[in-house]
Amino acid sequence: MIALIVAEFEGAECRSYIFMSRTFLEKDMTTTRDWAAENAAVTFATDVFNCSAMRKYLSPRVFSSFTEAIRKGEPLDQSLADEIADGMKTWAMEKGATHFTHWFQPLTGSTAEKHDSFFAPDQQGGVIAQFTGKELIQGEPDASSFPSGGLRATFEARGYTAWDPTSDAFVVNANTDRAVLCIPCVFCGYHGEALDEKTPLLRSQAALANQLMRVARLFEIDGDRRPFATVGSEQEYFLIDLGFLEERPDLVMCGRTLFGRRPARHQQLEDHYFGRIKPRILSFMSAADRKLWRLGVPVKTRHNEVSPAQFELAPVFEEQNLAVDHNLLIMHTLQDTAQEHHFACLLHEKPFAGVNGSGKHNNWSLCGPDGKNWFSPGKTPHDNAKFLFMLVAVIKAIDTHAPLIRSSVATAGNDHRLGANEAPPAIMSVYLGEMLENILEKIHVGGSLRVGKGDAIIEIGVTSLPRIPKDVSDRNRTSPFAFTGNKFEFRSVGSSQSCALPNTVLNICMADAISKMCDALESKLPKPMPAKDASGHTREFHAALAAVLQKEISAHKRVIFGGDGYSREWEEEAERRGLPNIRTTPEALRVMIEPESIALYERFNVLSERETRSRYEVYRHAWDQTVAMEGRCALNLARTYVLPAALEWEDVLVKSVESVKSLGRDAALRLESFNKTAGLVDALHQALDELEKILDGDDATAVPAPLSRLRAVVDELEGLAADAIWPFPNYGEMFFNVARPRRMN
Ligand code: ADP
Ligand code: MG
Repeated sequence: MIALIVAEFEGAECRSYIFMSRTFLEKDMTTTRDWAAENAAVTFATDVFNCSAMRKYLSPRVFSSFTEAIRKGEPLDQSLADEIADGMKTWAMEKGATHFTHWFQPLTGSTAEKHDSFFAPDQQGGVIAQFTGKELIQGEPDASSFPSGGLRATFEARGYTAWDPTSDAFVVNANTDRAVLCIPCVFCGYHGEALDEKTPLLRSQAALANQLMRVARLFEIDGDRRPFATVGSEQEYFLIDLGFLEERPDLVMCGRTLFGRRPARHQQLEDHYFGRIKPRILSFMSAADRKLWRLGVPVKTRHNEVSPAQFELAPVFEEQNLAVDHNLLIMHTLQDTAQEHHFACLLHEKPFAGVNGSGKHNNWSLCGPDGKNWFSPGKTPHDNAKFLFMLVAVIKAIDTHAPLIRSSVATAGNDHRLGANEAPPAIMSVYLGEMLENILEKIHVGGSLRVGKGDAIIEIGVTSLPRIPKDVSDRNRTSPFAFTGNKFEFRSVGSSQSCALPNTVLNICMADAISKMCDALESKLPKPMPAKDASGHTREFHAALAAVLQKEISAHKRVIFGGDGYSREWEEEAERRGLPNIRTTPEALRVMIEPESIALYERFNVLSERETRSRYEVYRHAWDQTVAMEGRCALNLARTYVLPAALEWEDVLVKSVESVKSLGRDAALRLESFNKTAGLVDALHQALDELEKILDGDDATAVPAPLSRLRAVVDELEGLAADAIWPFPNYGEMFFNVARPRRMN
């Protein structure tokens, strides 16, 4: 199986490279480690079977053969796998693990696990602890029960999980009776077809690395590391008291409130963002941080977010595959720790209408074979030539593939952010900051260039490209794809989404842009190349480079936008520029199966046409089911919770009118109250019927409109009925943890 993975992913290079990059990143983390060592209260990566654990639990021979096999991408021989498994088992059992699981990422949006204990009967009728090499490298879950979009049928159920040795195994809940050894895995079908999110990500990394090597060759950049992407994903989430969750079936079932009026106080005072963290929240955060550190997740930042009850956690960036796995661990850990602290952690993109939603800002950069960040403006004009080349490649990638990139963040939850009254917009644009925009504009018109005050004028294509100062970009919080000094922040990713797909798509779009620009540059260079000048390159190289950049800037500069991405004017302006604005998931997903998208996935060996089409089916099905489920849940709750409460309130009002009249007083105002409520109760009946009719059909795209009409009526009723009658905790109570009043009777 390991051999199969190697062949499949060109794993040879890809994995050795990731392995090296990981050690490289680990080296960068020494300060954190030292700090952890010095702080008795914290430990870092103690529950991870990383290099230092391997050194301790594997014989020197096995350790070096393993790292060597990884480096060369050669299949592991069975005896090696057996010894590694045995070492891993000993290590995990010392942490209290009784079970192991292949930890993989089927197309469910989350992870999957099936636990097997280490215990096996021995010949003498006793039991022994056993974990074989075969069990480590390969599992055989029944693939027919996972979403496959038709790739697997029940009669051809065989599926395989296979160890991804580039992401370390770890023990969750170490030193408790819930301790389990988790082995990060890919998941594929009998013929090697990808059934998960990790496989295409690893394939896209290989594709991108190959293209980055071409850039390295053209710019004569040395280095023996495989290039790789780095990712740091900021995770936003809400916390409410667990007691409230138990009283909100909509939150339990759908992860978001289907009803609820915005309270008088919400985020308008802008006092929550970065506000003082309350003790109960801080206890939760500290517990989550500590658990994550033990799992080797380098969490760094924690703060209050824009909406009341909203928070954020951000890690230090890591190699992309690891960062994706770690983000999944972050989401799980937040949820588990919340429970322990009697909170519910809501990861949905829009748990509460009318206040800030949650995203997952995917900070993304590229590291070259020289081990340097290639989105970092360099110190020399030579470095900057490569920097500008990379920058222009991003612009080309985003402009050319905006719809596909949009499709990578298309989920039912994210529909409430993208394309709704929420940021960032569904229009893909790139923010560069004024200075870089100016530089590109100057290159575009082919004129001479003055960068900053007092800098020399440099003519593109004649001497060299400009020196670019650090911190070239300001901040723009409204752009979906913002350059933030040395990385791009892809802000459209949804808070509950795995970042595997968005990163896969970024990788291949970038690989595509780079490959075309390299083709163009290579074709323009004279052969053989004339002698180099003082800048390390030839005039011919600069002339060719300037020509390539000019052409690409002029073709794609429409995607650059530095203004307010939330404004109505931008929507209009974007339309004038011909930029797509794909508002809903069904529309966005369809892009996946357009011929260009299928061809792109195929060209870089990331997904075959069959795999792409099946994935489209899976994602579309998930959207349909989610939306229909929300509709059903709303119908149910409105009928069985809201309507009885509304009728009860109506009754209270009727009685009040009658008693006032019986006392011989004017009941006109009370009658008005009653009429208002009675009108809404009628409207509620109508809205329920309307929604029910739609749900009886099978077009999920028709559900959101009647659902929001129903919601409008319910929310209006909430504003009229007695609080004590209302069946759900309201937004104010959940945001500010206010005690619920008792029932009236
Ligand atoms: P912000 O102001 O957007 O919060 P930060 O500097 O705090 O910016 O960084 C946010 C995230 O970006 C962090 O998770 C950080 O690790 C990540 N990040 C920083 N540099 C890189 C990089 N080169 N590649 C990927 N992510 C990065
Ligand atoms: Mg940020």
